[in-house]
Amino acid sequence: MRKILVTGGAGFIGSAVVRHIIQDTKDSVLVVDKLTYAGNLDSLVEVSDSGRYSFEQVDICDRSALDRLFTQYQPDLVMHLAAESHVDRSIDGPAAFIETNIVGTYTLLEAARHYWMGLDTALKQAFRFHHISTDEVYGDLHGTTDLFTETTPYAPSSPYSASKASSDHLVRAWLRTYGFPTIVTNCSNNYGPYHFPEKLIPLIILNALEGKALPVYGNGAQVRDWLFVEDHARALYKVVTEGVVGETYNIGGHNERKNIEVVRTICQLLEELAPSKPDGVAKYEDLITYVTDRPGHDMRYAIDASKIERELNWKPLETFESGIRKTVSWYLTNQAWWQRVQDGSYARERIGLK
Ligand code: NAD
Repeated sequence: MRKILVTGGAGFIGSAVVRHIIQDTKDSVLVVDKLTYAGNLDSLVEVSDSGRYSFEQVDICDRSALDRLFTQYQPDLVMHLAAESHVDRSIDGPAAFIETNIVGTYTLLEAARHYWMGLDTALKQAFRFHHISTDEVYGDLHGTTDLFTETTPYAPSSPYSASKASSDHLVRAWLRTYGFPTIVTNCSNNYGPYHFPEKLIPLIILNALEGKALPVYGNGAQVRDWLFVEDHARALYKVVTEGVVGETYNIGGHNERKNIEVVRTICQLLEELAPSKPDGVAKYEDLITYVTDRPGHDMRYAIDASKIERELNWKPLETFESGIRKTVSWYLTNQAWWQRVQDGSYARERIGLK
């Protein structure tokens, strides 16, 4: 039984990782999360009384708090998911992205390295620092067939992807310079349950259910490779427990879709699963509204995930069709979760407000 310290475990992917570890393995988890607007302890309710889960509200930029947690918890592994993650927010206000994604990753690396240096030889050899990153560090693809591999040069386009690229470089430098045992994964766009409704898929589902406009950037022709979050969580656990130190693994879903196709698929599923529509809406697709494109918007991302499939025997279980159906159904049956996000109560309660 291992002890895993998971940063950002109250976020979308982090909470899926924590639910996977608690529900499908014997390991225990300490979630370290600042609880920004994106952190939601409601997403961890399923595992919170398992006896193998604990939580600390800590900023990864706070070195002394991190030192205290490493000393008290004595983790065998670290999975680092805490980040500012929304590209549009990074364009409006890059400062938090520089602070958390770059300075925070540096601070965590140093706290973890000092803890690791004090471990006895066996624990030191087994220790891993797994940094979770994005395929957006590679920039964008202009053809229709080429794919990002683990050796594609970095060419980030947005403040978000530039901050993640910086953090990836720091993590690799800590291995090269200090021999600190790191692994990096770069994944494509995730979707699934418990996704904060500022991101495309939950935004479209919830706006459609409320009869609001379904905003599509530019002409909607941007292509993303969609990865179901529970497939990603399984991949991450495999990497941190079986991956090779110093390696990078790209994780993707083999599900390239244009944004407009994603939006239309959601509308079609809602016609089937939620046929009684808001007043004045004849067809969900009538709500599609094209809006001014995001500045610097990347055209296409697509991942070659053959290395993790070959070396760690991981494969996504969901196709886009099965995963998006599960996702739409989840939002239809878990209104309490997203209503508490929309009315802000998920955040007010943790600071004692009604
Ligand atoms: P998210 O925004 O849903 O969650 C981020 C979590 O980090 C939140 O719980 C937040 O409270 C926490 N956090 C933010 N700043 C913090 C700080 N200073 N200290 C401690 N905690 C802090 O993000 P996500 O979508 O779950 O993404 C997780 C990781 O995966 C990120 O590193 C992101 O870059 C990467 N990633 C995400 C996607 C995607 O499609 N969502 C794709 C590729 C990579």
